[in-house]
Amino acid sequence: MSTPEILLVLALGLVVGSFLNVVVYRLPRMLEGESNETLSLPSSHCPTCKTPIKVWHNIPLLSYVLLKGRCSSCQAPIHWQYPAVELTNACLWLLCAWHWGMHPNAFAWAVCISLLLALSVIDWQTTYLPDALTQPLLWIGLLASSLNLIDVSVQHAVWGAVAGYASLWLVATVFERLTGKEGMGAGDFKLLASLGAWLGPFALIPLVLMASVSGAMVGFWMQSTNRLERGGYVPFGPFLAAAGAVQAFYGGADVFFYINWLL
Ligand SMILES: [Zn+2]
Repeated sequence: MSTPEILLVLALGLVVGSFLNVVVYRLPRMLEGESNETLSLPSSHCPTCKTPIKVWHNIPLLSYVLLKGRCSSCQAPIHWQYPAVELTNACLWLLCAWHWGMHPNAFAWAVCISLLLALSVIDWQTTYLPDALTQPLLWIGLLASSLNLIDVSVQHAVWGAVAGYASLWLVATVFERLTGKEGMGAGDFKLLASLGAWLGPFALIPLVLMASVSGAMVGFWMQSTNRLERGGYVPFGPFLAAAGAVQAFYGGADVFFYINWLL
C-alpha cells in the first residue's frame, strides 16, 4: 500500500471509530428507554458539564491528544475508551486494507469488523448484544455473500447462519436443563448466526472452540485476581467477535490451525 492509501484508510477508520463511540454510548441507553437521545441528536456533548463539543474539538484522536484528554470547558477527564475505540477501529481497517487490498472486499470486512467491535464493547459493559447491531451484521453478511464480496457462497452463508444460531441455542438449552443456570443469552445465538453468514458453517466449530477457550482463560484470570463483577460471569460476545475476526483474517485455515494455536 502507498502512504496516501494508508493515511486515507486510517482517517476513515478513525471517523468510523468516532461514530462507533456514539453507538456504544447511546444505543444501550436508547434501548433501555433511559434517554430521548438518538444516534444523531443531540450533537456530541461533554457527559459531565453538558457543553456541546465544538467541531474542531471533535476530531477523532487528534482532539484527545491536543486537549490532553480533558473537556475544554470543565476540564473533566475524557474517558480513555473514546480514543481507544477510534484507534482500534483505525488499526483494524488498515489490517483489512492490507489483507484484502484496496478493494470492495476489504470494505465489506471492515464494516463487519467495526460492527463486531461495537458489539464487543457494548456486551462487555452491559452484557447485552443489541438486535439493532446483530441483525444488520447478519443481513450485510448475506448481502456480501450474494455480491461475491466474501469467499462464502450464498448457500453456505445461509447454512452458516442457521447452524450458528441452532448450535449455541442447543448448547445453552442443554446447559440450562442440566444446571438450572442461564449460561448464554439469545444475543449470543444471533451473533454466532451472523458470524456463520460471514464465515460459513465450517468455520463455526473452530470459532466456538477458540472463543470458549479464550473466554474461560480470561474468566479464570479475572476470578483469580478479583476483577469479576456483575454476578460473576464474563460476557461471551467479545470472545465470539474476536474469534470471528481471527477467522476472517485466517480464512481457509483448517481446524488443525486452531489445534496448533491452542497447544
Ligand atoms: Zn465538560
